Amino acid sequence: MKEIILTATCGHEVAFLDNPADVYRQAKIDKITGRACRTCRDERAKVIGRVRQMEAARIRLATGKEVKVGRGQDAKLLPAGTTITLVRQPDGTWTGRIEADGTAAEATANGLMDMNSKLAKRWLAARGAKVKGAAR
Ligand SMILES: [Zn+2]
Repeated sequence: MKEIILTATCGHEVAFLDNPADVYRQAKIDKITGRACRTCRDERAKVIGRVRQMEAARIRLATGKEVKVGRGQDAKLLPAGTTITLVRQPDGTWTGRIEADGTAAEATANGLMDMNSKLAKRWLAARGAKVKGAAR
């Protein structure tokens, strides 16, 4: 037996302990070369998990249940067609307005950092959503 390097469908190399006497040798090689490597499969599973989490959060939001959303994820709960308007004021501050599905909310801030997140939280709160991480 010796270790050989195979290439997975993602292009990454995968070490394989080759045993020419193994009756399943070709099947094992085909399995490795016919799919993505472990790291890429794990990463894909994480992404799919996050997408499912956001779908579940949207359903909870629509039914008035508490929604727990991670930092910076609140904008993903906003519906298609959401518009955000940012206006710089004479004193240098910014006023933001968010509008979606007939609900509007506003916020002011010294800068644009976190403005979209703040507006998303305000809009979600205006819709009665109980989103973890209160609007500032
Ligand atoms: Zn890979």
